[in-house]
Parts: sequence; structure tokens; C-alpha cells
Amino acid sequence: MSVYPTPSPDPDRPVNAVDAVDAVSPVESVQEVMNQARRQAADWSSQPLAFRQQMLRNWRSVIARNLDEWVDALRADTSKTHMDALMSDMYPTLDAISYYVRGAQAMLAPSPRPVPLLFWGTRGYVVRQPLGVVAVFAPWNFPVQLALVPVITALLAGNCVILKPSEQLRLLPDLIRRSLAEAGLPPFVCQVLEGGPDVGAALVEARPDKVFFTGSLNVGRKVMEHAARHLIPCDLELSGKDAMIVCADAHLERAAKAAVWGGFFNAGQVCVSVERVYVHQSVFDDFVRLVKREVQTLRHDSEGFGDIGSMTTRAGFTNCRRLLADAVDQGAQVVCGDLPAETSDLFFPPTILTHISPDMLIMQEEIFGPLLPILPFSTEQEAIDLANDSSFGLGASVFSKDVRRANELALKLKTGTCYVNDVVRNLANMQLPFGGMKASGIGRYHGPEGLHAFTQTQAVMIDRGRRKTMPHYFPYKRRTYELLKRLMRLLYR
Ligand code: NAD
Repeated sequence: MSVYPTPSPDPDRPVNAVDAVDAVSPVESVQEVMNQARRQAADWSSQPLAFRQQMLRNWRSVIARNLDEWVDALRADTSKTHMDALMSDMYPTLDAISYYVRGAQAMLAPSPRPVPLLFWGTRGYVVRQPLGVVAVFAPWNFPVQLALVPVITALLAGNCVILKPSEQLRLLPDLIRRSLAEAGLPPFVCQVLEGGPDVGAALVEARPDKVFFTGSLNVGRKVMEHAARHLIPCDLELSGKDAMIVCADAHLERAAKAAVWGGFFNAGQVCVSVERVYVHQSVFDDFVRLVKREVQTLRHDSEGFGDIGSMTTRAGFTNCRRLLADAVDQGAQVVCGDLPAETSDLFFPPTILTHISPDMLIMQEEIFGPLLPILPFSTEQEAIDLANDSSFGLGASVFSKDVRRANELALKLKTGTCYVNDVVRNLANMQLPFGGMKASGIGRYHGPEGLHAFTQTQAVMIDRGRRKTMPHYFPYKRRTYELLKRLMRLLYR
């Protein structure tokens, strides 16, 4: 049976940005933080890769040794469940260190390039150089992995980093700082700047060599506009509106469990949450019944070890209430989830909605909370069109027992990641690149792409230099011109 005991309101819990800030780095200190990073950058980048790898291995050990402290801090700062803290924040972070430490040598190795005929006698290769000082802006929803994975890759690639975690966090920024020191990283190689938008803006103004931003579309746009004024390259990992397509031949029980987990884990505050479920009309009623049954088994996390935590911010909670009210006003039916009219805590019961129309706000805006609309479709083409009918393009999933067919459908989705018969998990898979199409972002991280994102390529061409002149040097000769023309005709006919 459903178990949602009313959690006792904890007056110490952060409910908005202002309450949450304990230690704020003054805006005036940001330039000095940048200066310190710049002074350290040449030394850090000139260390052998093996040294940087060892530093990161040390860091991994320090984190792994203190996992309980990290999980407790995550729970205190965000209201996550134990499992979400361990598997969605700590595991990807530790695995990222292992993956990149193992692969860095090959990923960063110079790559020789073939020589075109007209460049006979030369050789060319490409090296990956560090950028310098990278600014990483991170959100609060997975405050460890979304902050530290870009930090790990930037550091391994030879950059110094200034991390600006979310102002929502109280314990984690200092824990990150202490763990870096305990691992023995040289001072100023990775600094943590605390504060809100003003500190963030001052960091962009201090002109890092790259901005790696994870957060909402509106703030990301602002940060990119600011960075553009100084021609600072930007990677943006932004909001999502992920669709899940359940075909008529899907394993319905698995699909229902996936929808409930994908929609509600981390209280739905996941950039790749399942936000819209499109179900073939022939199995729609069965699917909704299974989803309802699954939701009724969930236990609230207020006591002991549960499945669903409270939401992290008052603003997010209020936004979900607004989206729910709009949908119900316009005729949506609540299958399960009875949000009390008044509540002092931030527990939002997982809520399933049917009878959805496209003009409801819930279908247009990112929900970022435990609300899940389910809609029927009649043809696969209709499902693809509905899934693609969004300005966002972060992730999506297709459920079908015909894996080949599901894969074909997945390739028609305009999203940076897509899943067949699973949801969300890619966020923890370091091997595959992650990022969004359309308004969900620019750039990719994870995989070799994630390490390359923190490098700039330098192309080198070497001629042995033994000849005193070259056919393309002055003086130009008619005979050489005719010869080159003949050669081009031969080569490109
Ligand atoms: P946010 O956009 O409010 O804040 C992100 C970071 O930007 C914070 O550190 C914040 O302090 C900083 N910031 C705010 N204003 C700034 C400014 N003017 N200049 C510089 N920095 C500034 O996001 P949030 O509420 O912390 O996180 C939730 C959002 O993040 C959701 O929209 C979610 O979809 C998105 N998100 C995306 C991904 C992804 O990988 N695509 C992952 C997680 C979360």
C-alpha cells in the first residue's frame, strides 16, 4: 500500500537560495581567484599526465573512503534519498575518475594525419592543448556529479578550474574543497567559489578560457550572452522535456516501472526525467493501471530508507503546484497523487495525469518535479511527431520488444541521447557522450568528447626543410602553373 507519512518539517532545511547561503565568496574576490588560477595554470599544464592522473586517483580514494559523509551532505543539501545520492551522484563521479584516468593517455595522444599529394615530403599531426582556466557552473539537482565530472575532465586535460556550485548548497562546497586538499592537489588548481548569480556573473567577467555551464535554459542563455561579449567559448547543458514512447508490443510492466522511476526518482528533479509518456492506444488503459499500481508501492523517504524524497527548493515545489493546477483547470484527470491544499514541507506526492491537451503548461514547460502526464497515440509516426514537438531535445526513450524497430524509431528522435527499453541511465554512463540538441544545449561531455571539450587542438605540419625553394614560392612560373593544373585535373576528374 502507498506509504507517504507526513514528513516533519525541518526548519533548518534550505528552501530557497537566500536561506541556503552560508559562505559567500564576495564578488570582489573573484578576480583574485582568477589571478591565482592563472598563476597556477602553466605549472599544472606542464606536469606530466601521469602526475595529474595520480592526483585524480588520490581524489577518488579520498571520496570513496568518505562516501557516508558525501551521501549525508547530499541528503542534507538536497533531500535526496540514500539510493539517489549514492547511485546518481557518487557512482558517476567515482566512475568518471576511473574511466578518464584509464583512457586519458589515448584520448589526449597526438594524432598523426595523412598527407595530401601536394604536401608530399611533409607530415602533419594534431595535439590537444589545455585551454588554461575553465569556469564550471553547476546546478543543485546532482550537485556532485554535475559539478565534478566537468572538473575531473578539465583537470586531466591540464586546465585549472574555478567551480561555482549552486548557491542552494550548504555543506557540499566545503566538502569538495576539503577533499581536494586531502588528495594533495596543489593549491589553486581547483578553487570553489560560493555565491549566486552575481558571483557567477563576476566569474564570467573575469574571463576564463572556457565556460562549462549546467543549468536552466534562461540562465544558460544569459551566461552565453555574457561570455560572447568576451569571445569565451561556452558549453551549455540545459533543460529537457524528455518523451517516452511505449509501443503496442512493449513489455508493459517494465515500461510502467521505467516510467515511474524515470519520472519520479530524485523527486523528478532530473534534466532527463521522463516528462511526457506517449502510449499506443491499444495498451493505454493497461499501462495507466500498471503505473498507478507501481506508484502505490512507493515509500516516502522521511523516515529510514525510502524511494521518494522531498523536493529541494520551495520555488520548484510552487512551480509544480502551478503546473498541476493549470492542467487540472483545463481538464486533466489525476490518476494518483493527492497534493494537500496546504503543506509546510516540500514533499510533492508523485502525480500521474491523463486527459492531457498540448496547450497545457505541463506539456510546454520543463516540469522538474514529480508530475507525469500520460497520453495515447495511434501510429508510430504520430508518436515521433509528438515526441519531437518540443523546443527541447535532451533525451527520449522508446519501449518495444522489437529492438531493431525501436532502434529505428530512436534514430528519428531529435535528442542528444535516446534509450531503447530504458530511461535516464545514460547520465551515469561515462562512455557515451551526453548533451542536448535544440534548446537543451550546446556541446557534449562524457566519453572522449568530454575530455576533448576541455582542450584546444593545435595542428602541426613539419617539412624536413632540405630544399632551398618550393614550387608554390615566388617567383610564379607558367610551366609550374600548367603542371599543377594538369595534376588537379587528373586528381579530381
Ligand atoms: P540555474 O540555471 O538556476 O543555475 C545554474 C548555475 O548557474 C548555478 O550555479 C547558479 O548560481 C548559476 N548562475 C545563475 N545566474 C547566473 C549568472 N547570471 N551568471 C553566471 N552564473 C549564474 O539552474 P538550477 O536551478 O541550479 O538547476 C536546474 C536546471 O538545470 C534545470 O532546468 C535542469 O534541467 C538543468 N539541468 C541540466 C542538466 C543537463 O545536463 N542538461 C543537468 C542537470 C540540470
